[in-house]
Amino acid sequence: MAISKLDVNAVVGGLLRDLAFAQTSNQKMFGYKRAAAAVLSLDESLEHLVRPDRTLQKIAGVGPASTRVILEVLETGGSPTVEQAVAASPKRADIERRRTLRSHFFSRAEVLRILRDDTLDGPDPSEYRGDLQMHSEWSDGAPALVEIVEACLARGYEYAAVTDHSYGLRIAGGMSMAEAEDQHRAIESLNAVYATRFRMIRGIEANISADGSLDLSPDEAARFELVLAAPHAKLRSSDDQTDRLLRAVEHPHVHILAHPRGRIAGSRAGVAADWPVIFAAAAQAGVAVELDGDPARQDLDFTLAADALAAGCLFALDSDAHTTFQLRYADIALAHARLAGIPPDRILNCWPAERLLGWLAGQRRDVSAATSWP
Ligand SMILES: [Zn+2]
Repeated sequence: MAISKLDVNAVVGGLLRDLAFAQTSNQKMFGYKRAAAAVLSLDESLEHLVRPDRTLQKIAGVGPASTRVILEVLETGGSPTVEQAVAASPKRADIERRRTLRSHFFSRAEVLRILRDDTLDGPDPSEYRGDLQMHSEWSDGAPALVEIVEACLARGYEYAAVTDHSYGLRIAGGMSMAEAEDQHRAIESLNAVYATRFRMIRGIEANISADGSLDLSPDEAARFELVLAAPHAKLRSSDDQTDRLLRAVEHPHVHILAHPRGRIAGSRAGVAADWPVIFAAAAQAGVAVELDGDPARQDLDFTLAADALAAGCLFALDSDAHTTFQLRYADIALAHARLAGIPPDRILNCWPAERLLGWLAGQRRDVSAATSWP
């Protein structure tokens, strides 16, 4: 598990965000945030964008002030401009806190470098057959179902699960069960049209409440082919929440524990828990743990993923896309899986459709026999 060199774009992206938070004008703050986002989503390392005369090639969204920061970092490894602005800022303490919440987040350039690094043992991008978390216009995503199918086919996928939010998460446009039923009919007609070319899986992202219960009854959960369970609240608490996640993992209808921590880059650490205990329980219950590829999540990251691998877990590597463009976030999950050295056989997304669908159907345990369900 080696990171051979510094992820310069991630360093610069973090410093530009620090500079954004040190601004008093909203316009300047948005300008630096936009520059940070542009740098983090570049395909190339900034080192390759410096001209022989030590000036920088033009990058869309990056203005002269941000360019100065980039050149400082490339010359010296840090940015005096940013450090001075932070030191003088009344928001200094908050910026220092945010800095502690940026570890193990990769820029896109670093992700692409990891995907090309053939010394790594983990999954090859060509082994990835389909994505198991994404959102459509049926909850808080943008695309129509047919747009998802076409975008997934363009990425070479054989299947995908559409996993809109369930009704407990109203803030994210969660689907009622009646809407879910309509969505299932729409998915069935698409599957009939695409037949052997593509299989859309009827999924749902259930919300794990503070006590570990789900916002779906067992009967309701049973109507979906794939149930993700994910925490969306109480993610800024430092209280131990091992029991909360154990209860979710032991739920008889859950297939995948999605973005297990609920961390957000530079914003919150997510759930504090005894992860080896949770991974052991997930392995025991046959529940897969997710590497969520949203650039701001990267959750689990490669370090915790290595622990989950040692505990015997299965994995899902997902984009958590809310637009078809964001389907490429699956690359980020793949990069973490490669660094963690997860064998493709342990990754649901690398299984042929038949094996995956068989596992999904068999995974659903007899609810009446489950003791942990109230
Ligand atoms: Zn979620």
